[in-house]
Amino acid sequence: MAVLLDGKKVAQELKERIKSDVAQLKDRAGKAPVLACLSVGQNAASSVYIKSQGKVAEELGVEYRLGTLKEGISQEDLVAEICNLNTDPGVHGIIIQTPLPGGMNLDEVVGTIAPKKDAEGMHPENLGKLLLGQNRIAPCTAQACMELLHHYKIKLRGKEVVIVGHSEIVGKPLSLLILKEFATTTVCHIATSEAHKLEDHVARAEVLIVAVGRAHLIKGAWVKEGAVVVDVGINRVGDKIIGDVEFESAEKKAAYITPVPGGVGPLTVAMLMKNVVTLSTETLK
Ligand code: NAP
Repeated sequence: MAVLLDGKKVAQELKERIKSDVAQLKDRAGKAPVLACLSVGQNAASSVYIKSQGKVAEELGVEYRLGTLKEGISQEDLVAEICNLNTDPGVHGIIIQTPLPGGMNLDEVVGTIAPKKDAEGMHPENLGKLLLGQNRIAPCTAQACMELLHHYKIKLRGKEVVIVGHSEIVGKPLSLLILKEFATTTVCHIATSEAHKLEDHVARAEVLIVAVGRAHLIKGAWVKEGAVVVDVGINRVGDKIIGDVEFESAEKKAAYITPVPGGVGPLTVAMLMKNVVTLSTETLK
């Protein structure tokens, strides 16, 4: 039976470290790091994230400022709000809550955040730095996966790592973080499945990381004996949340596996706060 990669426990330890960094910053500068969140209209999924961000920020001593903008706001006016935050010296990190209303271009909106205040690490400048290995921050979920692997001392050098999903927010940045540790990295996506090659890639993965958003896409029978399995997927099926990997059959073959929920999820918000603290260290010297 596999060892569970316990995201809740790892998140608690990470939060203790962030809390201590925040306390030191406050001692030094007399001010707390400030994360400004802009949300447009009302959205059930966003409300859950906002609540969780506010709760974790409070727990860690980060000030969370929520700006709720009216549903019909234009992209131009949203950008003007971001520009105000960019020039506000009292704000150290900015996050734009997604999804944005239809008709808005998320890339354009994120591109207007000052890179030094980009709490999610999704500005093209910060993604470029990630590519060059010059980054101080990185997208939160990708970092959350790395934190979990590091905590359990899972060595990546020379390993066959297979990532399923190539989104800008998870799969692509994660592939760069994994590559930086000298793993042999394969990234699978929709065309891998269309070519009926997903099972073959999964079967040779010593470390498998799945971020697709399709319940039980990865069958336990495909998983290599002794593999490390990190399931980022969150799928609501009836009243349950399940991952992209068939947990029950996969845990019989894997050496380590994340539960869903309780794996990567708890670490993601903590990573957002870590980014904010990193960004604020320059300003709050
Ligand atoms: P996304 O933007 O929809 O990306 C999904 C990726 O999966 C795409 O690259 C897509 O490829 C690929 N894909 C779709 N169907 C596939 C298939 N049959 N075989 C192989 N690849 C396939 O989603 P995301 O934002 O990366 O999120 C992925 C999952 O992680 C979701 O369940 C989300 O809720 C979860 N998530 C969890 C956390 C957390 O904190 N735990 C954070 C973020 C996301 P194409 O683009 O080529 O179609």
